[in-house]
Amino acid sequence: MSSDHGPASVLRPTPAGLWCREGDFYIDPPRPVDRAVITHGHADHARAGHGAVLATPETLAIMGERYGVDFAGQTQALAYGERLQVGGVEVSLAPAGHVLGSAQATVRRGGFTITASGDYKRRRDPTCAAFEPVPSDVFITEATFGLPVFRHPPDTQEIGRLLRSVQQFPERAHLVGAYALGKAQRVIRLIREAGWDKTIHVHGAMDRLNRLYERHGVDLGPLAPATTDTKKKDFEGAIIVAPPSALADRWSRRFPDPVDCFASGWMRVRARARQRGVELPLIISDHADWDELTATLDELRPGEVWITHGREEALERWCELQGIPARALRLVGYDEEEGEGE
Ligand SMILES: [Zn+2]
Ligand SMILES: [Zn+2]
Repeated sequence: MSSDHGPASVLRPTPAGLWCREGDFYIDPPRPVDRAVITHGHADHARAGHGAVLATPETLAIMGERYGVDFAGQTQALAYGERLQVGGVEVSLAPAGHVLGSAQATVRRGGFTITASGDYKRRRDPTCAAFEPVPSDVFITEATFGLPVFRHPPDTQEIGRLLRSVQQFPERAHLVGAYALGKAQRVIRLIREAGWDKTIHVHGAMDRLNRLYERHGVDLGPLAPATTDTKKKDFEGAIIVAPPSALADRWSRRFPDPVDCFASGWMRVRARARQRGVELPLIISDHADWDELTATLDELRPGEVWITHGREEALERWCELQGIPARALRLVGYDEEEGEGE
């Protein structure tokens, strides 16, 4: 059924993703399409191979770094706050506070506004612009940590635990698993803010994104590659940041008796930490926790909430109790479990 008014004329969920008929584009489509609006550079939102991509300049730079400069037929940059007419709708991007360049996509038509948050968080992140609330008739929220059990502690507290452990075990290396886009740079920046000014060793897979962040004004301090040329003894007392997959890899054997750490919102679940053999779980997430999700919906008070990838039921129920109409979109193709940036 098609309607010329209301939400469905602006944006609608389809098997191929959130689709805007009037503008003929998809938001974060899981498969290649002619025209895509991309909220941020994580792999489950930003795929290569679209005909045309509209995104923030930072997200385009990140996609170029990850997929090569030919990642789309054509690209168009849209800075935060700029408005662009696309077919029958107006599109704008607002900061989502998730990773560098991350944006909420707002689509307007005839006085009706829908905002797709993409992934977001509300707490301070020294590596990206803070989330900006956009008054909307429909707000599409993520719900990765949409259960009351998920309450992320202050990140300064988690970094404090890491640095105390380094002090306590000066003969061991601390190997911090962190996703290469966003989490790694945030963890490094937080370690700097906690006063650690020594060299931090990084896995080679992170080099390019670290440099990209630095080009965008995020000072990561002295970094060095964690190469085999370095003697095992030289890594005593060192902090090494690497993609989570590298922790279980033979790559990690070059370090002296490493303390495996993992920076993720999932570390709130002890069984997960144990399962992965994580000795020092660090609960640091780039997604809103339960309190941030509900505070955001409370602040925005949209006419309607649509809930996408994550744990929809509890948030749906919360909205119901608050008198905010809500529905779960059940879009497919997004990593809900061990996805990037969690
Ligand atoms: Zn993400
Ligand atoms: Zn996501």
